[in-house]
Amino acid sequence: MYSLKLELKLNNLERSKLAGCAGFARFVYNFGLSMLQASWDFENIKASDSKRLHKIEKVFTNYVKTHPDFAWMQNYPSAIYSCAFRNLAKAVDRWRKGCSKFPTMKSKKRGDSFTVLKKSGVYPAKGEAMLPFSNRQVLFPGKRITIPGLGEFKLRQPIPFTCSSQTFTISRTADKWYISFMLDAQKIPTSVHEVESVGIDLGVKCFATLSDGSRLIAPPSLKIAKTKLSKEQWRNRNKCFGNRPQGVKTSNNGKKYLKKLARRHAHIANVRKDFLQKTTTEISRKYYRMRIEDLNVSAMIANNKLSEAISSLGFYEFRAMLTYKEVFFGTKVEIVDRWYPSSKTCSCCGHVQPMPLSERVYGCQKCGHTQDRDENAAVNLKNCPNNRVRAVSSALDGFPGLKRLRSPEACRRHTRRASAELTPVDRLGADSPGRSSPANFKVFELYDLSVLCKFCIAQ
Ligand SMILES: [Zn+2]
Repeated sequence: MYSLKLELKLNNLERSKLAGCAGFARFVYNFGLSMLQASWDFENIKASDSKRLHKIEKVFTNYVKTHPDFAWMQNYPSAIYSCAFRNLAKAVDRWRKGCSKFPTMKSKKRGDSFTVLKKSGVYPAKGEAMLPFSNRQVLFPGKRITIPGLGEFKLRQPIPFTCSSQTFTISRTADKWYISFMLDAQKIPTSVHEVESVGIDLGVKCFATLSDGSRLIAPPSLKIAKTKLSKEQWRNRNKCFGNRPQGVKTSNNGKKYLKKLARRHAHIANVRKDFLQKTTTEISRKYYRMRIEDLNVSAMIANNKLSEAISSLGFYEFRAMLTYKEVFFGTKVEIVDRWYPSSKTCSCCGHVQPMPLSERVYGCQKCGHTQDRDENAAVNLKNCPNNRVRAVSSALDGFPGLKRLRSPEACRRHTRRASAELTPVDRLGADSPGRSSPANFKVFELYDLSVLCKFCIAQ
């Protein structure tokens, strides 16, 4: 399985149509989240989150969507809102499992995205099985794509071959719109690797040093782009960016600048992604077994002096890319124990001596061997004893946060502050209208819907 992400070539009409779709998805997501939180206050009702969300979706379909105030929803394909509910259910599920934080309200400021899918297949007769592949959208090679429910759009890059997909996600980064979809295809792994094994030492001065002496240096364009960004930020430091509590609006020049800023950030992200993709592919083609140090990235970022350099290079992404490319290239990524003294050990005789960060050359006090610090570390990683190495999948399991289980108290902390003793009327007074009720829902409407949801969930 792999996916394609292509840029859409849009005119202004299409642009606003897609922005509207993303707004609809955002509205539904926020609506579902606020109703779910409200439903936790209901007394004597025991239901799982998925059941609650299922009922809330039903209330949305039968009550909210048909309400004349929300007639604008009829203009958008219904797949959008069912996908938004599904995304919300996934987010809540991940939070319950302890994989991620509690889902936050979606905001217009944090990018747009929505998902559509081809809902129904073709059934020859009632009760019979669906015709195979009829619930999939067939995509032909070329620069046009048909999105289910939205029509035909132009692409900047062509689709390379005839393929089909059921689900399409459309997203915006800065002012560019992208479409991504999954293909039921597999890349055939390379059978022969030039070199058997390699050690990779990641560093701040030089992005990566390989044990055969080659170096990967971060592209200079990244530094240029970052300098430009910081100059831009300094020049525009006095612009008015608005302050909602004080009732200050963003100035027109401020808006223009924010758009420009988003483009610059997107450019930097693209440069970095391009560098990482190219280098990881190159490495995966050449080497079979790769050994990387288990870097405690979050602890390194806590160090003020190193943080900028590390987070801008993307060590974590580098490793993640190497890992997912295991399948494509038939490689093996191994993680060396965090406490293995790779930079302190002599790669020649095995002598261990202290090495402060400022020393760039390793000079062995026992055998007199001298080597570049990073290169020495890379060779040590390559020759590391097998009992200090583990396969990458288990290393990812051990990542902080993934296995952290949440206590019931922590779950409850996220539920609404309004306690069960308060009557709904008190709640009305406690919530200030307009701000606490998200998605521009008036409080009394939210209350009405809460009653409806309570009734539905209890059934
Ligand atoms: Zn030595």
